[in-house]
Amino acid sequence: MKAVVYQEPYSVTVEEVTDAALQDPTDALVRVTTSAICGSDLHMYEGRTGAKSGMVFGHENMGIVEEVGPGVATVKKGDRVVMPFNVACGFCRNCLAGKTGFCLTVNRGFAGGAYGYVSMGPYTGGQAEYLRVPFADFNCLRLPPGEEHEDDFALLADIFPTGYHATELAQVSPGESVCVFGAGPVGLMAAYSAMLRGAAKVFVVDRQPDRLLLAEQIGAIPVDYSTADAVEQIREQTNGDGTDKGIDAVGYQATVAEGEEQPALVLNTLIEAVRATGTIGVVGLYVPEDPGGPSESAKHGELLFRVGKFFEKGLRMGTGQANVKAYNRQLRDLIIAGRAEPSFVVSHRLPLEQAPEAYDQFDKRVHGWTKVLLKP
Ligand code: NAD
Ligand code: ZN
Repeated sequence: MKAVVYQEPYSVTVEEVTDAALQDPTDALVRVTTSAICGSDLHMYEGRTGAKSGMVFGHENMGIVEEVGPGVATVKKGDRVVMPFNVACGFCRNCLAGKTGFCLTVNRGFAGGAYGYVSMGPYTGGQAEYLRVPFADFNCLRLPPGEEHEDDFALLADIFPTGYHATELAQVSPGESVCVFGAGPVGLMAAYSAMLRGAAKVFVVDRQPDRLLLAEQIGAIPVDYSTADAVEQIREQTNGDGTDKGIDAVGYQATVAEGEEQPALVLNTLIEAVRATGTIGVVGLYVPEDPGGPSESAKHGELLFRVGKFFEKGLRMGTGQANVKAYNRQLRDLIIAGRAEPSFVVSHRLPLEQAPEAYDQFDKRVHGWTKVLLKP
């Protein structure tokens, strides 16, 4: 089958690879109809991780079930399904508690499993014609048949639930003010989710004009950090206090602001932007150590968190991979009911063959390349 294969930093190709196939009785084989490119793929693409050449990318997958193993009870051939990016067993103590991003069965010693992701288990990615789905009864969310809402449903694999998870970590409540750092697909989904939860005022901080425009179009207040200090802009519009809640949708690859020498650690900016006793939700990715060798931003991510200021303000913080399974059914039903349309972030729908160009453009944050859906 054809698949998107990582070669070396800044290079992916579309190659013939070994066909995906059932391995365990509880597996399903899915014919992929949509697999999205994620900001998380860029960590591997840019060579910040220990990803090995030959690896197949793709953790945001949906498609049609082609075949199921004898141990699969509820999913059947022909079902249209979307898979949470987390590969999870459904029966370990974390899964039973709804923390499927931290499954203790699939990837022992690490935090959870994922398709096509370095250090998250042996699961091949879905930017390919077919995908093997382990524990299929647990890891397939069934969708209405047909092709309606394909783009909306595709975002249930990761970024819509991840954006929602950010608001859960930040404990966003009706009537509150929220600042979201990062207007990438994840930040936009966090802002959108904050509004679904009834937030009164949502700020979105970035420096990409096209992404800030999308934020404005969903009713958020765009804040361009390249023109003036983001914290000052937010404080001016919140009685000088800062917002009730804050979200980091950037992570350790934060770009340097104009005039700054060190990579900005968004977490520290959030400590300033959120009012005393507020809560911060972190879904932007941070790494314990950089498997590809020490990168400056990772080092700063480890060393320069201002815990004193965090303590002084009595802040709280939640972090980590999204437990997609905790929200995807509810978000699916909001889409079906016409109450949510997350596909406003989708900018491109391209055949698999155009993956190299898509990675290049999305990575460079070329104007208008917000979210790419690959169509194997
Ligand atoms: P992205 O990388 O395109 O988005 C990041 C955005 O942040 C960009 O628009 C960039 O211009 C902006 N940015 C950079 N530095 C900034 C700064 N100092 N202040 C404000 N904005 C800044 O991709 P994405 O898909 O939106 O992913 C964002 C992050 O979320 C990545 O780190 C990704 O790995 C992570 N992620 C986490 C989960 C999870 O489960 N926790 C799931 C998906 C993605
Ligand atoms: Zn993703």
